[in-house]
Amino acid sequence: MNIAIIGAGYSGMAAAVTLAAQNIPVTVFETSKQLGGRARGLWHNDTQLDNGQHILLGCYRHTLQLIEQVGGNIEQDFLRLPLQLTLHHRFSFKASPLPAPLHILLGLIRAQGLSFTQKISAARFMLAMRHIQFSLPGDISAIELLVSHQQDHELISLLWQPICISALNTPLHLASAKILLNVLRDSLNTSRADSDMLLPRLNFSALFPDRAAEYILKRGGSLHDSCSVKAIIPRDQAIELTVNSNNGNTPQTHLFSHVICATSPTAAARLLQTMPQLASLTQQISAIPNQPIYTVYLQYPAHVRLPQPMLGFDQCYTQWLFDKGQIAAQHGLIGAVISAEGLHQELSQENLAQKVIQELHEQLSITETPLWLKVIAEKRATFSCEVNLSRPPHITAIKNLLLTGDYTAGDYPATLEGAVMSGIKCAKEVLPTRT
Ligand SMILES: Cc1cc2nc3c(=O)[nH]c(=O)nc-3n(C[C@H](O)[C@H](O)[C@H](O)COP(=O)(O)OP(=O)(O)OC[C@H]3O[C@@H](n4cnc5c(N)ncnc54)[C@H](O)[C@@H]3O)c2cc1C
Repeated sequence: MNIAIIGAGYSGMAAAVTLAAQNIPVTVFETSKQLGGRARGLWHNDTQLDNGQHILLGCYRHTLQLIEQVGGNIEQDFLRLPLQLTLHHRFSFKASPLPAPLHILLGLIRAQGLSFTQKISAARFMLAMRHIQFSLPGDISAIELLVSHQQDHELISLLWQPICISALNTPLHLASAKILLNVLRDSLNTSRADSDMLLPRLNFSALFPDRAAEYILKRGGSLHDSCSVKAIIPRDQAIELTVNSNNGNTPQTHLFSHVICATSPTAAARLLQTMPQLASLTQQISAIPNQPIYTVYLQYPAHVRLPQPMLGFDQCYTQWLFDKGQIAAQHGLIGAVISAEGLHQELSQENLAQKVIQELHEQLSITETPLWLKVIAEKRATFSCEVNLSRPPHITAIKNLLLTGDYTAGDYPATLEGAVMSGIKCAKEVLPTRT
């Protein structure tokens, strides 16, 4: 058995670690120099950034467990905060220190910026979803679900919309209520710690993929960064990969018993399209819609700080702000996140950054000029988690060619946990064929 994994993002590395843990050596090919895919660290001059600010939830059990398996320490690697949503001067909710689901219900009753009727209505919604075990007979949009449970416009815009955009990166009118409920079930319903927010103190390459690479190497595997797989060619009893290293050497071919394609959906469709047996699968993957995420990093003088590590703005271009000083001792560095499609896409990157700077000035009286700024526009950050979205399974029509990635069939939206669960499941599909 020799298994190749194409892509060293969170799903590919989760698959690799799961196989390596069973002493099955794997060979990982990664196009980029950095591991981590969409959740990778990068350098801007001499500052360590992430490809986009990521946040984990306490219920991301598979991801947290894998980080520990490869040597991480969750309490040291993250700043853990109880669930809280603060839209500056407009709304604030904080989970109370009671067991679930009382922590949410009491948090709602104590929330600022909602009327008493709105608080009761939000609490009733949570209880109604608990009553139906967060499961719907068929899928509808998140907005339809909320409106059918008497959530008014203001309540939706202050509470449910920020939750839905943060969790699904999809606007409410498109978002799958089923998937939203899966996230609410896992994060808000079972244990208080499940709803905690975990803000990384390390960059996302260091947090898991770099450690996972060491773990794999120690168990006889290998990892080739700066190596792109250009073609997948099914042979009689094996699968051939054509691999280009980015240093200009001539392409090489390698034979594997199994191949796990762990790329983004766009890259997967490109690799699969040459195989006629996979025409309908390729079509299915190509039809998956995407949503963007923009991150504006602003380096202010070190004394500039936000009132709290994570803060939202209402009715602004800026959705969430992260104070990297309070989170990761990168003082003066602010990350502004703008998720999902919207008017911000009509602005140039420079104009978007200026809007964020202006909003920081108007809302928080930050008058200093940033020393530098960097905008990261991920136009295809995640799949658009829409109603009844058709997502492909792990298994393909070609024996021993499997797919993993946040976009494959599963309960979760495009998240690290979705990617990791997919990687683990895919690796387990390979394992039984061994006996
Ligand atoms: C800006 C941003 C913010 C986000 N915020 C959050 C968040 O707060 N919380 C959360 O849980 N999730 C968040 N996500 C989503 C999360 O990052 C993704 O769901 C997850 O990283 C997807 O992992 P993956 O392994 O499925 O795919 P990818 O990360 O896309 O990994 C695929 C890998 O395959 C490699 N590859 C592609 N083609 C080839 C080839 N031909 N040969 C070799 N290698 C190849 C790529 O270089 C890449 O490394 C965010 C995403 C972005 C972009």
